[in-house]
Amino acid sequence: MIRDRYGGGDARDIFAKAYEFTLVEQAQTAQIYPFFQPLDSNDGPEARIYGRHVLMLGSNNYLGLTRHPYVVEAARRAISDYGTSMTGSRLLNGSTYLHEELEGRIARFLDKDAALVFTTGYQANLGTISALVDRRSVAAVDKADHASIYDGCQLADGEMVRFRHNDAGHLDSILERVGQRKACLVVVDGVFSMGGDIADLPRIVEVCRRHGARLLVDDAHAIGVLGQGGRGTASHFGLADEVDLTIGTFSKSLASIGGFVAGSRKVLEWIKHFGRAMMFSASLPPASTAAALAALDVLEREPEMVERLAKLATLWREGVRQMGFDIGKSQTPIVPINLGDEYATVVFWKQLLEQGVYTNPVIYPAVPIGKAILRTSCMAVHTQEQIEQALETFRIVGRKQGLIP
Ligand code: PMP
Repeated sequence: MIRDRYGGGDARDIFAKAYEFTLVEQAQTAQIYPFFQPLDSNDGPEARIYGRHVLMLGSNNYLGLTRHPYVVEAARRAISDYGTSMTGSRLLNGSTYLHEELEGRIARFLDKDAALVFTTGYQANLGTISALVDRRSVAAVDKADHASIYDGCQLADGEMVRFRHNDAGHLDSILERVGQRKACLVVVDGVFSMGGDIADLPRIVEVCRRHGARLLVDDAHAIGVLGQGGRGTASHFGLADEVDLTIGTFSKSLASIGGFVAGSRKVLEWIKHFGRAMMFSASLPPASTAAALAALDVLEREPEMVERLAKLATLWREGVRQMGFDIGKSQTPIVPINLGDEYATVVFWKQLLEQGVYTNPVIYPAVPIGKAILRTSCMAVHTQEQIEQALETFRIVGRKQGLIP
């Protein structure tokens, strides 16, 4: 861990590492620090930053619903009806009929028995995994799974094993070893948050069934993006009945914040009473709950948004690939530019920003050391002209930086 490199001085001062940590100041002095950049405004496909107008190619607002009048009005109304916060956890004093309505709607949307709403998607993973994976069980996770899945495993009392990215054969051999002696929960991202590739669910499902393991799919980046009407990865493969638990977030396609787990009612009842991330944290605020409900209404009313997103994503992805960038195995609106070198990635990000295109540089610990990427993502509300304009900017800046021929 990079964190462990610091703190060599006064070992008895818990703050010593913080005082020695100067990387951020160095990057800020060189004017290449890329994180925590405040936006002046964000209208969806376009935004303003430091007074400059930019094309937004670095957002998870895949359907562009954060400014949808119906969604905005629903949030406003919820504040009038319930106030700004519930100031307590779901368990005690933080539940409203809005939360229950959202749970029912998510369950119906995904054709599951029930759903449980958490305050964030991060907490949905924490609460679900830590409640289920006890001392007698194992979590088998894909190496490229999201940090919240790893953190959920850390919080759990059980063992964690990792299998090679999207390698069902490797999962098979791991389950062969551990599955005999312990109950197993296999956890994968449906769409991988950095690579934009899709989990090999047909093979993973087959391996899980053969070993009697349960399967949890984190569809944070797949709801609203993949499958029939945006119902996610299992729907994309026609495997909706084969996935035991689906986790999702409202902070991406559903234009809000919050998370959920959907699955069998009995299992959710357990998570509800043993998932500490739900029990000991205040509930999703009414405005966010209502915004997620309204965004789901819009998605159900206008499923063609999902097709439009897929078309624009193909235009963007194939355009970038044909230019000569390495985009790995992306098949979705998440298109990583694999650059490896962290400095080159940050310089590319900065030059693109100066030319009016907003993207996300991603370095360790979000990706392994030396595997830096520039993460780009497009939205259903981009126009074809905006995508073409972004491609042109990438061509000019990429050539100038010697990244493409
Ligand atoms: N799972 C995945 C795969 C994610 O990418 C994210 C957020 N980036 C989360 C969970 C956490 O979601 P939230 O933002 O709702 O906490």
